Amino acid sequence: MEIILAGNAGYCFGVKRAVEIAGKVLKEHRRERIYSLGDIIHNPQVVKRLKNKGLKVVTDVDRIEPGSVVIVSAHGRSEEDIRKLEAKRCFVVNATCPYVKFPQNVIKKLSRENYFIILFGDKNHPEVIGLVSYSANSNIAVVDKSVKDFGFIKSSKVGILAQTTQSKEDFVDIVRRLVAGFRETRVFNTICDATKIRQDEAIKIAKEVDIMVVIGGKNSANTKRLYEISKEYCDKVIHIETEKELDRRSFAGVKKVGVTAGASTPDDIIRSVMETLKSL
Ligand code: SF4
Repeated sequence: MEIILAGNAGYCFGVKRAVEIAGKVLKEHRRERIYSLGDIIHNPQVVKRLKNKGLKVVTDVDRIEPGSVVIVSAHGRSEEDIRKLEAKRCFVVNATCPYVKFPQNVIKKLSRENYFIILFGDKNHPEVIGLVSYSANSNIAVVDKSVKDFGFIKSSKVGILAQTTQSKEDFVDIVRRLVAGFRETRVFNTICDATKIRQDEAIKIAKEVDIMVVIGGKNSANTKRLYEISKEYCDKVIHIETEKELDRRSFAGVKKVGVTAGASTPDDIIRSVMETLKSL
C-alpha cells in the first residue's frame, strides 16, 4: 500500500506559535492560576495535554478569578473580554495569531472612518465573534457565500474583508457582486494562505488515491473543510482525530492512501497515524 502524506499537513504558523506560548506560560507561571479563554487551538488532544499541565479552560470571562494569568487563544477574543480581564487585574498573554490581528485592525480602521463593514465568515466561529467586536459603531454585517442582495446597506461607503480561513474564490465572488452596487468599496484580502495551501494539496492528493485520511479535531473548522473538499475528489474519505480510529477493514484492497491534517493537528499525532497505516 502506497501512502502519500501532504507536505504541509499539520500545524500552521499561528497555531504552532499559540501552543508554544501556552507551554512557556505554563512553565514560567506554574505557581499561579492559569486560564485560557476557550480552547487555545481546536484540537482536543493538545488541549487535554495542556490541561494536564495545569491549564484551566473556560469560555466565560466571568468565571476567571481576579489576578489570574489568562491566555487568549489563536482565534483572538472580543475587545470587551480583554477590557474585563484588565479590570480584574489579570495578566493577559495574547496568543492571537498575527494574521487574525490584521482583520481586527482593518475593522477598527473602517469603523473609525464610518464605512459599513461586510465580514465574510461563519458568524458562530470564535474568530468572527471576536472580529465583530472591533467595530465600535456596530455598522457591520456577517455574511456567508449565499449572500446575493446588499440592499440592507444604507451607506455609500462599504468595506469588505473575510474570516482568515474562508475560501478565496468565494470571497472574490462576493466582492464582484458587492462592487457593482456602491460608489466606494474598499476590499481587504484578510484570508490566510495556510488554509488554501492545505486545501490545494488535499485536492491534488485526493484525485489520485483510493482512500483519503484527514486527521484533526472534530471541532476544527479547517479540518472539516479538508474532509469535505477531499470528498469531492475521492470516493472514500475518513476523518479521524488519532490513529485509534483507524479500522483495518477500511483499507481492504486499497493500493494508494492519501493523508492530510488540519492546521491544528500536532506532528506526533500525524506520525502515529503514519506508523499505524504502514503497519496495515
Ligand atoms: S490558519 Fe492562518 S490565521 Fe489561522 S492560526 Fe493559522 S496562520 Fe493564523
